[in-house]
Amino acid sequence: MMVRSISILSFILFFVQAVPAESREVKKKIPKHTVSSGNYFVKKEEKNFSLLMEARRFGRGEVIFLRLTPKDKKWINESYKLSWLGKDVILTKRENSMIAFLPISPDTPAGAMTLEIVSKIFFVKRGQKQYQIILEPTKFQVIKKNQQIKVDEKFVTKELPKETLDFIQECKNAKETAFTKSSQLQFQKNFKNPLESIYITSKFYVRRDYNNKQGRPHGGVDFRGKTGTPILAIQDGTVVLAQKTYYEGNFTIIDHGNKIFSFYMHQDEIKVKVGELVKQGQQIGTVGTTGMSTGPHLHLGAKINGVLVDPLSLIALQSISESN
Ligand SMILES: [Zn+2]
Repeated sequence: MMVRSISILSFILFFVQAVPAESREVKKKIPKHTVSSGNYFVKKEEKNFSLLMEARRFGRGEVIFLRLTPKDKKWINESYKLSWLGKDVILTKRENSMIAFLPISPDTPAGAMTLEIVSKIFFVKRGQKQYQIILEPTKFQVIKKNQQIKVDEKFVTKELPKETLDFIQECKNAKETAFTKSSQLQFQKNFKNPLESIYITSKFYVRRDYNNKQGRPHGGVDFRGKTGTPILAIQDGTVVLAQKTYYEGNFTIIDHGNKIFSFYMHQDEIKVKVGELVKQGQQIGTVGTTGMSTGPHLHLGAKINGVLVDPLSLIALQSISESN
């Protein structure tokens, strides 16, 4: 474990209110079993509680894991409200702490991001406090024209038969409905990889241009895999969509609770049904090349509180399984 320099510290985290220098602490830890090279930890001791934030980076498209631990155990049953980037975030009780997942949209403008904690117990006088976190600069890759990927004309042309257009609309509606599902947090452990053997072929939010037309940013991560390779649930959850769709091919969405979803595209076979409870590591399907795909691979995506994030930033989190 090594302590990062003061310059990185002030760059990553900045509190609106003046706090003693020794309580601002950013540490970089080298985890043993993740695809990431090391995460950032922010720890802050307040009078009535302690705050921990962990992220692979405090940058665009990343998720921050947050834990609030009241100094007095009985305060756990008081009422608390958390807002992140102006949106309410669900706080879940976990033994003597409360945990939350804060997504940073890939399109977040540069500058400070605001976390607000509302609590009469924590902040006796003012009832709330705001913390500002400086966004680490992030640049997403753009694939140049000479590296463009050819896809079937049926995915890029606008002239499609009515029944195809109807099917596309149907798929879109089913997807939107699945992502509006809301349940309580369904997991206790850190996330895991979706395949036994991991090789990333396309990163999150890379922009690819298809057939000379500017493509949308890549909404997930692509993993190389042969057709038939088992796909494993990255976390415990409930299947909220499992069907053939136009662009995503055989498509599965898992609800993990607290508006956290993982989704799996282009599968050869789907091995779960809507409503089914799945365990982390359980096989949910097989790698394939169905839908808008140029070869067998798994596209894994993650959505938190309505925001697409890099699923690898969830998988990299190390503190979820720790109780305090
Ligand atoms: Zn993909």
